[in-house]
Amino acid sequence: MHVRTLLNKLEVYKSFVFCDEHFEETEGSLPSILVNIRPRKGARGQCPECGRLCATYDTQRQRRFEYKPLFEFKVFFVYTPRRVKCPFHGVKVESVPWGSGKEQMTNSYKHVLSRWAKRLSWQETARIFETSWDSVYRAVESVVSYGMQHQELDDISQIGVDEIAVFRGHKYLSMVYALDEGKRRLLWCGEGRDAKVFRKFFQDVLGQKRSHDIQYVCSNMWAAYLKVTKEEAPNALNILDRFHIMKKFNDAIEQVRRDEYKALKSQGVNNPLIGARWTMVKRPENHTEKQAATMKELLKHNLKSVKAHLMREEFQRFWSYTYSACALKFMNEWITRTLRGNIEPMKKVARMLRRHTDLIMNWFKPKKRLSSGAVEGLNLKAKLVIRKSFGFRSIKCLVVALFHTLGNLPEPNRTHRFC
Ligand SMILES: [Zn+2]
Repeated sequence: MHVRTLLNKLEVYKSFVFCDEHFEETEGSLPSILVNIRPRKGARGQCPECGRLCATYDTQRQRRFEYKPLFEFKVFFVYTPRRVKCPFHGVKVESVPWGSGKEQMTNSYKHVLSRWAKRLSWQETARIFETSWDSVYRAVESVVSYGMQHQELDDISQIGVDEIAVFRGHKYLSMVYALDEGKRRLLWCGEGRDAKVFRKFFQDVLGQKRSHDIQYVCSNMWAAYLKVTKEEAPNALNILDRFHIMKKFNDAIEQVRRDEYKALKSQGVNNPLIGARWTMVKRPENHTEKQAATMKELLKHNLKSVKAHLMREEFQRFWSYTYSACALKFMNEWITRTLRGNIEPMKKVARMLRRHTDLIMNWFKPKKRLSSGAVEGLNLKAKLVIRKSFGFRSIKCLVVALFHTLGNLPEPNRTHRFC
């Protein structure tokens, strides 16, 4: 069987024929398979600008396009591009269905690289295919850019926004996710976390009509996000994410524990807080046996840290209310009690709750509860991508990697039949 017989099964080009194939010896590795392609008799060339079939003008130098490897042989298409004379665009190098522009990789090869790069690190992918990291990056970027241009943005009614620190906290990315059931994915990310950045998403990506169709925006308490949501998605209910609110409690507990730990240490007394950091932050139902024992021991002491921990546990009840009026009453009582107490970080949380009461109460408004973990789940995945892309020097690479993994972007049809 000829290689071209296989290729005819995989790639159907109406105006081109695979005419023959041969080996080319390569020093130090397996020979490469070169497959010659020529235009079908009488077939005209396609203008790269408008897609019109035009008369050919002359030919250029022969070019090679790398195809998917076969067994362990590298495969190249060899073709001599023609120039076409388009009545509207003048003399141009024809477009070919297997590749684009000056890119040396065929579209098929780019998709293979990009699919592997989803499962492995880009470095690993490059090693397996005996190519460069840069080629893998270019392949992924081209697939992502196709997907971005063809992604469906209609029918999105719920979005979530959050920030992620990158480059060791020197920079931030604003991440916008679609949260609708079955459509959860990364919609957009922009560098920075100020109002201007988030506004770009509504104005440049979504457009006014779709922005006005948004029903729910799930966000953290970052003022810029709250402000832009109000202005750009006026019909949306802004819901403060449960996860972010509880995170403020955890931060407060940690602050109390740290201060108390230091104070006990300086007094030189027996310090029960040694090794209790996670016992304090974790919820009791998630405690390991050892942590449960530590907690039991800690309860015997009169510690502010323990008090803070218990205050958070008490507040958890808030989320289980069905009637918002009861929830509101509960929260106000909690706030009053806490503000009368003497644990400053917890008082800070209470003041935060009071400041954002309206937005927090929005939690109870949707008929069907929004999945509070959705934003956090997507954010965790994003952080994993960022960790895996350790060594990326530019935000641009990182953004390509994030969309590649979390964008759920459409891919072009494997067999391109555009001429
Ligand atoms: Zn044209």
